[in-house]
Amino acid sequence: MSSHRTPGIVSGRLPQEALARNFADHPPPLDRHEAAVAADRCYFCHDAPCITACPTEIDIPLFIRQIATGTPDAAAITIWDQNILGGMCARVCPVEQLCEEACVREVAEGKPVEIGRLQRHATDHAMESGHPYVRAAPTGRRVAVVGAGPAGLAAAHRLAVHGHEVTILDARPKAGGLNEYGIASYKTTEDFARREVEWLLDIGGITIEQGKALGRDVTLDELRAEFDAVFLGMGLAGVNALRASGEAHEGVQDAVDFIA
Ligand SMILES: Cc1cc2nc3c(=O)[nH]c(=O)nc-3n(C[C@H](O)[C@H](O)[C@H](O)COP(=O)(O)OP(=O)(O)OC[C@H]3O[C@@H](n4cnc5c(N)ncnc54)[C@H](O)[C@@H]3O)c2cc1C
Ligand code: SF4
Repeated sequence: MSSHRTPGIVSGRLPQEALARNFADHPPPLDRHEAAVAADRCYFCHDAPCITACPTEIDIPLFIRQIATGTPDAAAITIWDQNILGGMCARVCPVEQLCEEACVREVAEGKPVEIGRLQRHATDHAMESGHPYVRAAPTGRRVAVVGAGPAGLAAAHRLAVHGHEVTILDARPKAGGLNEYGIASYKTTEDFARREVEWLLDIGGITIEQGKALGRDVTLDELRAEFDAVFLGMGLAGVNALRASGEAHEGVQDAVDFIA
């Protein structure tokens, strides 16, 4: 049994209860009443600075109003129409530096509307009812998507909605990209990355081939010959080197590999 005094690199320094606490869902989801109270704080600003601050430009006041009026599933559609991975973003997006930092109530009172938690409330609620999108009639067109990270999945979903057939190739054994391999598990409990991918694939028309890498197992020319279009969504692999002495020592890992 290790403790905080055990020398060297060892696991199990913390007692089980501390580990369970550290990896619990935090902050916990809002219940219906809490969500209604949180949504009521939104001023429904005409020139909403929260939307401008959101990298995916979700219509935040609209989805918050939909929660306030008791239609969280409509709120989820507002979010997903703009960002189909809105469930994960609700959990991991650094809202305190984006929409919530820009919120007029943060500026005026130091307490923003809880946009991230409200987004989670809406998407969690709607995900319980299954997949809400319907595919258009088949177009007969086939598209290859390289990379099953957020970019590739979002592209694949939108293509499938428009009736195209999509094949995703991913080098790794699991889909999700950094949502699966790069996000610390205390931010996304209960295997949410995997569940969100499964939910997204319920649209139909998308096949994922895991363990298949562009450049190793297939070439771009082969994909262009086989498919009508190719979308490249391989992400930005690699991390900045620390350039600190000793970084090549045994036991030293970069943060992304450590999280994976
Ligand atoms: C530690 C960390 C924390 C982060 N935290 C947040 C956060 O809190 N909030 C937030 O919004 N964003 C966060 N991000 C950023 C977010 O994860 C990325 O912006 C997002 O994952 C990029 O999506 P992507 O699909 O472009 O790339 P990736 O997620 O990297 O996915 C690329 C996919 O392509 C596959 N691939 C790569 N090369 C090939 C090949 N040759 N052939 C086939 N497949 C290939 C990979 O296996 C992978 O599945 C974080 C990133 C890191 C590293
Ligand atoms: S800035 Fe704040 S109060 Fe205004 S619309 Fe956005 S969330 Fe609501």
